[in-house]
Amino acid sequence: MNVRVDVSTASAVQRPLIACHDLGHVYDSGRGRTVALDQVSLTIQPGEFVCVLGPSGCGKTTLLNILAGFVQPSHGEVLINDHAIAGPSPERGVVFQDYSLFPWLTAKANVGFGLRMAGRAAAEREAVASDLLRQVGLPEAGDKYPFELSGGMKQRVAIARALATRPALLLMDEPFAALDAMTRASLQTRLIDLQQQSAQTILFVTHNIAEALVLGTRLIVMSPNPGRVIEDIAVDLERPRRRTSPAFNELYDHVARAIGLDTAE
Ligand code: ADP
Repeated sequence: MNVRVDVSTASAVQRPLIACHDLGHVYDSGRGRTVALDQVSLTIQPGEFVCVLGPSGCGKTTLLNILAGFVQPSHGEVLINDHAIAGPSPERGVVFQDYSLFPWLTAKANVGFGLRMAGRAAAEREAVASDLLRQVGLPEAGDKYPFELSGGMKQRVAIARALATRPALLLMDEPFAALDAMTRASLQTRLIDLQQQSAQTILFVTHNIAEALVLGTRLIVMSPNPGRVIEDIAVDLERPRRRTSPAFNELYDHVARAIGLDTAE
């Protein structure tokens, strides 16, 4: 196990996919001022599977929303492939906790939605959607509507939809948090396989330490008030990762201490 404890982050050997410089975000509302992000600087290389971990309120979703182009930071800059973010883009696929599929579209049409917006032909949309539904293990579900699918199936459709435009970056905000433990574990495995086959760059937000250690090649640990990066850890545990292995537990305890948890989850 190699624990890199370094707030200034990864090597600059490759050209980074994402570069955040001194990022800050403040929400000013009637109920006061919240510093959701403060002095966040990090670079992410293509192919990294980065898990952003921390307790509720430490700015994880705000960071993801800034990278998605939904929120404009109050301070600092973010470059994706050397370009400033001007808003949401098909270059960045997003998967939320609550599936957010279009209920009036079939699974296949949901997956092909971004391609339809981009003006791509029906035959291409059909081919891409069928291929992605097969990759997420739902080859038979193309003609089904969201109400006919379980939570785990809906989330697989949402992942396929986010991948359809071949985004450089996949942003995932607690995507498995609403699922039961078995479905969650099976989708984690599927996501790892998908990422290993495609070398897709993923930024995955979670407040679950075990989930972050099962999935990520790198762990960004944040703390609240103000939301800051407190640790940046290379996770080079062997796959498949066993939660019972001493190396896994050692890293788990290290992270738990970093976020101020005395006991295991
Ligand atoms: P996390 O995803 O880690 O739970 P968030 O990014 O959602 O953290 O929130 C960080 C802080 O910003 C929290 O204190 C939260 O209450 C506050 N916050 C988030 N969104 C808003 C908003 N739209 N208006 C005001 N405060 C917000």
